[in-house]
Amino acid sequence: MTDIDKAEAILRTPLTMPVTEHQLQNREWARGVLADEWMDETPITCPTCNGDKVIIGMFPVYAEHVPQADRKAAIEMICPTCKGVGAISSEHVDRIAAGERLREKRKAAILGLRHAAQMIGILPSDLSYAEQGAVSLEEIAAVERLLDVFIVGRDALIAKD
Ligand SMILES: [Zn+2]
Repeated sequence: MTDIDKAEAILRTPLTMPVTEHQLQNREWARGVLADEWMDETPITCPTCNGDKVIIGMFPVYAEHVPQADRKAAIEMICPTCKGVGAISSEHVDRIAAGERLREKRKAAILGLRHAAQMIGILPSDLSYAEQGAVSLEEIAAVERLLDVFIVGRDALIAKD
């Protein structure tokens, strides 16, 4: 496992409560590893956060005394695409494009994420990572091949009826 694999794995893992100094130090290290990876090339502004490094997410608030209409809170979170770096590599841009193609193919086949993952024998979370471009191009290509095999096989079965 390379440092880059390790860094990406750390940043993919949600923080657990209570957040420890160790978790924060690990994340700091991981972001440094990813930032170093791209020093040789011109960084591409992250398309998700537009270089802001954080995004604002709306999260439900489950508190009884809060009126129904107000039970959402704006929470600033580390950008899931660039992991708080603000920029991404050209390879990452390619991965995002490949992931989008994969998602379009799945949707064209009218397959839900869970169903598609079950049919091709991988975890829904892994399919989701592939569609987000959060894994390597090779991994995305491998998932796409599995999906192709399933779609072609299913279409052939339907054609026989
Ligand atoms: Zn970002």
